[in-house]
Amino acid sequence: MKVFKFGGASVKDAASVKNVSEILSLFKNESLVIVISAMGKTTNSLEKVVNAFYYQKSELKDMLKFVKDFHLNIVDGLGFAKGHSIYHDLENMSTEIDWVMEEGTSKGYAFIYDQIVSQGELISTKIMSAYLNENGFANQWLDARDFIQTDNTYREGKINWELTEKLIQEKIISRDGAEKKKIILTQGFIGSTSENFTTTLGREGSDYTAAIFSYCLNAEEMIVWKDVPGVLSADPKYYEDAVKLQEVSYLDAIELTYYGATVIHPKTIKPLENKYIPLRVRSFLSPKESGTSVGNYSATKPLVPCFIFKTNQILLSISAKDFSFVAEEALSIIFKTFADHKVKINLMQNSAISFSVCADNDEFKMTPLIDDLSKNFKVLYNDNLRLVTVRHYYSATIEKLTKDKTILLEQRSRHTAQVVMKED
Ligand code: ASP
Repeated sequence: MKVFKFGGASVKDAASVKNVSEILSLFKNESLVIVISAMGKTTNSLEKVVNAFYYQKSELKDMLKFVKDFHLNIVDGLGFAKGHSIYHDLENMSTEIDWVMEEGTSKGYAFIYDQIVSQGELISTKIMSAYLNENGFANQWLDARDFIQTDNTYREGKINWELTEKLIQEKIISRDGAEKKKIILTQGFIGSTSENFTTTLGREGSDYTAAIFSYCLNAEEMIVWKDVPGVLSADPKYYEDAVKLQEVSYLDAIELTYYGATVIHPKTIKPLENKYIPLRVRSFLSPKESGTSVGNYSATKPLVPCFIFKTNQILLSISAKDFSFVAEEALSIIFKTFADHKVKINLMQNSAISFSVCADNDEFKMTPLIDDLSKNFKVLYNDNLRLVTVRHYYSATIEKLTKDKTILLEQRSRHTAQVVMKED
């Protein structure tokens, strides 16, 4: 059994939905589980709906109409007959959202977010399933919430692995007869609590869903279909000599995604590595190309420096108000404050009297964080910075990278170098 994942860009309009069926025709007679994200930028649009509802903004109606029209346009472009049940599914999406809103805001932002934003994946898979069924790809639509069980950390559901594995194995592996021949089609990104409320797994979480299914089904391979030829050694937007990697070791994949490589969601690799399930990143634009294979390799091939560029960074310099040392006790307060504000530290360094932290400059998180830190410490900061992480670097790589740049912080370990520099 193979597990496929199609992200938003691969199902962003009628033409790309049709393209998915062309890809599937290359895998006739294979046993497939297909995990699909919301179409195009629907998750962003639904986030705006949640925001407008929660903060009672006047654009709510327009935003809801936008989401509905976007899908209607795709459905129309796929040539369904007038009375096809997909039109009913579309109405249903709106009704489900209305119902959540009728309940008011008392259950909090994150809860409402998950109940509404999940509709993107549900309608996307309904459309894909209907289209594929009409075009010779018999498939069974499954509700991922019947399998992916989480705790009730809304927006970042933690997987109950034991229960999820049991449900997937019971309901998928033991299908019989004609059912067994069908492709399984389900949603990425969403799960369910034990009280049957919907949760989501964090933005871009559909890769993770596909990895969970792969793990629980002992899949022979997982394929993520992307709009890039595979895993590249750098984002060509920032580095013109980027090359496609043929083979990436699990370790490199974990490190690269941890430092911010966006090609795969960081939580994806571990479940696959635990069972040595190979992951392939392939292009939905050139589906016959082999892409990049992530697996149990001793080294990445070709072993070239890999760059991860993170823009819009801020560097905080935190010191004691009385010029005393920033030692363990102070550090524990600092870390707790970062954890309370859910700010991820991208790089840190300490000296006797100050502690420097580089993080994403998210305005909603940074101001309250700095306010809080300032209660106990003196906080200075530089913003408009870029963090570059280079794995498998050479000295010459760093020299070239930093030439004519203002460097604020640099750190090197055996395989990884990180540099914080001013944006041009
Ligand atoms: N639709 C979700 C998002 O845009 C999940 C995903 O695409 O992986 O974050």
